[in-house]
Amino acid sequence: MKKELDEYLVKKYSKIFENRNASIKESCMAFGFDHSDGWVWILDHLCDSIQHYIDNNNKYRKLEDQISQVVADQVKEKFGYLNFYCHGGDRYTDGMIALAVVMSRNVCERCGTIENVGHTRGPWIFTICKDCYDKDERLAKENFIWTVNDSKIISANDSTKEMLQDIISWEKDLSEYESLETILRSKYKISKK
Ligand SMILES: [Zn+2]
Repeated sequence: MKKELDEYLVKKYSKIFENRNASIKESCMAFGFDHSDGWVWILDHLCDSIQHYIDNNNKYRKLEDQISQVVADQVKEKFGYLNFYCHGGDRYTDGMIALAVVMSRNVCERCGTIENVGHTRGPWIFTICKDCYDKDERLAKENFIWTVNDSKIISANDSTKEMLQDIISWEKDLSEYESLETILRSKYKISKK
């Protein structure tokens, strides 16, 4: 991931990414975010949801009942999914992470779009939109074949929007989803095809 995006996440969620600058022996976070830029907005909202949940709940809990801080151990792409390994948290934060992982399967890892997203077959599985695949000529040369998401996942695209709504907890109509996407794109400088 781009250095600026890496620094943005580490600075904004310093508790979650406290091991980002640890040594390789101490934490795999030393390797950084091992995926492309398109997933930054999933991580941003995931970490925002986790940190809000922990901070807000702990305000009202006795010391012995406090939710432990979620600390990332490794963040990477694997088989086309975002993988977020961590310690701390509880079953709610585990649920937030599970949702983010499912979402990543429907978001282009390169540009962050949810339009026309599929996967590569061949040497490696990437979650990538058709445009990003076409733009990167090396992929076809190296025998990566692009396939559209299967029907089950395509029909899940609408539910992806619902999932997005839940994880971001915004209270607007789904019809406003597009404008939100535009805001996120300009915020993270993710180009639209
Ligand atoms: Zn793309």
